[in-house]
Amino acid sequence: MKTTATARKGSMVNFCRTPAEIASNIEQAIGRSRAAMDAIGQETAPTFANIIVPLDRTSAEHDVEACVACFLGSVAVEKDVRDAGNDASKRIDEFEIECSTREDVYKAVRAVFDNEQEMASLSPEDRHLVERIERGYRRQGLLLPPEKREQLNAVRKRISDLEIPFKRCVNEEDARVLFTREELEGLPEDYFDGREMEDDGGVSKYVVTSKYPDYFPLMAYATREATRKAMEVAAGSRCPDNVPRLQELVSLRLEMATLLGYSTYSEYAMEILMAKRPADAIAMETDLLARLAGPASEKLDELVALKRSDAELAGEEYEGFYVWDTAYYGRRVSEQKHDIRGEEIKQYFPLDKATRGMLDIYQKMLGLRIAQVDNPPVWHPDVAMYEVWEADEDTFVGHFYLDLHPRQGKYNHTAVLPIRFGCELPDGSREYPAAAMVANFTHATSAAPALLPHGDVVTLMHELGHVFHNMCAHTKWKRLHGLQVERDFVEAPSQMLENWAWEPASLRKFAAHHSTGEPMPDEMIAKLITAKNAGAGANCVSQVFLGMYDLAIHNTTSGGIDVDKMFNDMRDQITNLGTGSVETHRVATFSHTAGDYSSRYYGYMWSRVYSMDMYASRFKKDGVDNAATGMDYRREILRPGGSRDAMESLVRFLGRKPDNKAFLESIGLRVD
Ligand SMILES: [Zn+2]
Repeated sequence: MKTTATARKGSMVNFCRTPAEIASNIEQAIGRSRAAMDAIGQETAPTFANIIVPLDRTSAEHDVEACVACFLGSVAVEKDVRDAGNDASKRIDEFEIECSTREDVYKAVRAVFDNEQEMASLSPEDRHLVERIERGYRRQGLLLPPEKREQLNAVRKRISDLEIPFKRCVNEEDARVLFTREELEGLPEDYFDGREMEDDGGVSKYVVTSKYPDYFPLMAYATREATRKAMEVAAGSRCPDNVPRLQELVSLRLEMATLLGYSTYSEYAMEILMAKRPADAIAMETDLLARLAGPASEKLDELVALKRSDAELAGEEYEGFYVWDTAYYGRRVSEQKHDIRGEEIKQYFPLDKATRGMLDIYQKMLGLRIAQVDNPPVWHPDVAMYEVWEADEDTFVGHFYLDLHPRQGKYNHTAVLPIRFGCELPDGSREYPAAAMVANFTHATSAAPALLPHGDVVTLMHELGHVFHNMCAHTKWKRLHGLQVERDFVEAPSQMLENWAWEPASLRKFAAHHSTGEPMPDEMIAKLITAKNAGAGANCVSQVFLGMYDLAIHNTTSGGIDVDKMFNDMRDQITNLGTGSVETHRVATFSHTAGDYSSRYYGYMWSRVYSMDMYASRFKKDGVDNAATGMDYRREILRPGGSRDAMESLVRFLGRKPDNKAFLESIGLRVD
């Protein structure tokens, strides 16, 4: 298919900005938005067309600048650009508070919302937009008396002042530990390839950071407990200032919720989600934990037995099993029981080929055509840029970027960040979406290309699921585009697609040895799946712990909870894994608590129920590469984005209400 003129694709985003440009662009964008709000606030005869439409359009225009600035705060190479991006985020947050507290605008919105006749005449998507906007203002306290509202605004500002440095600290931390080669016994050869060395009192040592490609292999392979422990202690000592920040955040969130008339922050946060009430999410977690207790303790017993026998063989005393032992003994038990060798498996997943193979799966499933852009205008040479088109028509869909390797100062976790939201433009043409996946996968070495452990293959498939949720959403309004669905549903599409990283049919398509090109042997695929099924339930425990912890600190009427102690206590109690007499504060890098996931982390488990139902009752049944099912999925789940309730999308795709049978089966639990 011929590629059309640039104009048909929408403009490319410019990431090349100086700190001064970022600051001045944001000020200008804020000025334009403020002027638009002033005009909306002065409207004397409010209607959908003169209030709601300009509100969404202004927000779309504003976000073109705002998203790029925030994004550069997380990924820019130069520190001064990142700082400017983060400062801009703060300015944007402040301005959002200003906008969301404008009485004149709310009055106009409310007039449209209260106009039953006009509301009844709107399309479902238009009506949904009005309801979303009205609800947003109401939840900002616009129905409160002025003095309470002022108090609320001060609390919100303080929350933003704490969340930004919390996240910045996690991104910018540069924890590192120095180890000798002997101390790193057990690590594969490629771990040392190109690794920085430093003199430590006359001894030359390897520098190991807490970034994923350094941290995870060390925890899984380092034979010496002292090494794993030193690494875990270093990781658990990062960002100490985040502990008091979270402590204050928890009490401020409660104060905010109380001012708005809710008894806990969770009640406020969850009212607009699928779960609706904290009690339902807590019941789900509690039920799951009870079901998982058996399998989890059996698995832990196996790991403990292996550690005991190690101690016995070495003639040492067994001194307990700790948080730094799970990855190491988990790997060894899996290798022994299932004859699984992570090092062997990763030889079949060179990053470039695995990525292309996965993109092929996505483009076939969703009826798309994906083309990599040569010499892309991006923020770092590692970044790849892609165009997405409809497979059989000359229609552009969107742009996405993959920024897959770690760098100093870059966002530390894995995520898909929006750069531009899709929507209809005033002339009837479209604003095309753009999004970026940001990850921290290992680099190539001199001996081999970048190779992905299977866990990272699952992550890549998952994050690409978010990318295509962004690409395939097709809504009229910016505020309803893509991932702006209920937070406890947003993970479901990506979680469903993780299954393709375990499907023999799809692994055969993209798992091939990096040097011989041989496809992954069937026997190896079978072992991989057996090992996964064996550990599936136990592996959920840490997710359940994080979800329960997040609810425990937020679904409370007391702001005085000791967030650090509670994290450690609940981890010890729920996962049976602690740090003994060593003090760490892992909660300081649990970034989810510092943003949109606060009191919503349970959503990862909650949405798994839907993801497995969609997978089992449609794709597994119809065939994972059934194009018609793929298009149903695109039409009913991805395309509507937030333009209707997620439950409605699910019912349309499944042909019935969802249930949890497939989920429980998938983690090896009995179905009632
Ligand atoms: Zn995700």
